[in-house]
Amino acid sequence: MFDSLSDRLGGVFDRLRGRGALTEADVRTAMREVRVALLEADVALPVARSFVEKITEQAIGQNVLRSVTPGQQVVKIVHDGLIDMLGSDTAELEIDVTPPAVIMMVGLQGSGKTTTTAKIARLLKKQGKKVMMASLDVNRPAAQEQLAVLGTQIEVVTLPIVAGQQPVDIGRRALQSAKLQGFDVVMLDTAGRLHVDQALMDEMKAVADIARPQETLLVVDSLTGQDAVNVASSFSEQVALTGVVLTRMDGDARGGAALSMRAVTGKPIKFAGMGEKLDQIEPFHPKRVAGRILG
Ligand code: GDP
Repeated sequence: MFDSLSDRLGGVFDRLRGRGALTEADVRTAMREVRVALLEADVALPVARSFVEKITEQAIGQNVLRSVTPGQQVVKIVHDGLIDMLGSDTAELEIDVTPPAVIMMVGLQGSGKTTTTAKIARLLKKQGKKVMMASLDVNRPAAQEQLAVLGTQIEVVTLPIVAGQQPVDIGRRALQSAKLQGFDVVMLDTAGRLHVDQALMDEMKAVADIARPQETLLVVDSLTGQDAVNVASSFSEQVALTGVVLTRMDGDARGGAALSMRAVTGKPIKFAGMGEKLDQIEPFHPKRVAGRILG
């Protein structure tokens, strides 16, 4: 991930650093190249545009051009801009409430939502929390069973399946049962969908209304590039997201989804899925990622 973006930006910056003095025109040319590199990496157009406008202004102002090392300074401005775009600090789950805290997982089918639910449950269990998972996916055959199987693997309780029960009722039952049995966290794995679908959006909103989740995490597949951005924007219009999980960061995505997510949803990327195994998830570190992009 980010390899080709990193190469492209590396080339732009080598040319900048190679010159002692920089003119405003040099900076503008370099920034146009940065814009093209971002677009080629699948960064959403409005995001790339506003990023480049902002950093161009900074790079031309602030006495940067009159400094002894203008090239270096411009690179630093781009670096800081990238961190800003990715969301400065690592964003933690905010589930410090009177238990049970509720984490609602949303996203398209196949994004890795169910796997991610189990991955996060495993992390929370390792932190000493008593976690319950419940699948509210009554659309996809065997979705509830899939979560139960993952629960067995990571030794996390799943809500017993009651055939025919509808999502809002499953959600209510999960909360009740978690309260009664003293669970710290309930994770609700909502129905996946093949595309953004209003009936399922309404179902998700109805679940959110009764469960009042502390965290609503959108799971998106980083390999889907521009589509991931469209999905994120549709979901964030419908439900109050608190964060994003990008899956398949182990794949060869060009990075556009990661770079656009915060601007599109206004929420931080909280985790990165790094593989199929249930321990392959990492907190998302904006600074590290920005460092990797700029090499
Ligand atoms: P859901 O339909 O969104 O619930 O998707 P699943 O959780 O069933 O995942 C779909 C497929 O993606 C499964 O084969 C997962 O093992 C795989 N998967 C999930 N997350 C990741 C990830 O971060 N990296 C990779 N390589 N595969 C993943």
